[in-house]
Amino acid sequence: MQEKQIKLDESALRIGLGEDSHRLAKGGPLRLGGIDVPHDYHTLGHSDADVLLHAVTDALLGAAGLADIGELFPNTDPENKDRDSAEMLQLAYEQVVAAGLEIVNLDCVVNAQQPKLGPYKQAIRKRLSEILSVNLDQVNLKSKTGEGVGPVGEQLVIQARCVALLEKRN
Ligand code: MG
Repeated sequence: MQEKQIKLDESALRIGLGEDSHRLAKGGPLRLGGIDVPHDYHTLGHSDADVLLHAVTDALLGAAGLADIGELFPNTDPENKDRDSAEMLQLAYEQVVAAGLEIVNLDCVVNAQQPKLGPYKQAIRKRLSEILSVNLDQVNLKSKTGEGVGPVGEQLVIQARCVALLEKRN
């Protein structure tokens, strides 16, 4: 049987993984996925600390082989203080598009013990699809708790992961 040879430089598809975590502090709301979720805690960070948008940004940049979010938007730059992560995601995706790639789909996971994200999942998916100008069915979101253990379960942090599949434009 002949082995199928896949030449990476000829492949039209690129995959990327993004991960992020932010510590929690008292006082809401929780900025997550580009919306404000009612909660008694918020995430700490130099920007608006949107852990999901940061994971999505790094997944897209990673799939395109570009510099990561920390290199593009350093936390030493005062311009990035309290910066809207939706704006950073849009700027990053502009670079991805300029590199000749576009989104096939995103699959995301948020790990948060609280709040329960079920009621907000559709609003977050919609906001993500708006930020990136893609269809709703190109963006998926799952939420998991920390089962009450570890830094997520003890509500010290919220974590997010995203896998992005990109395709070269013709
Ligand atoms: Mg971050």
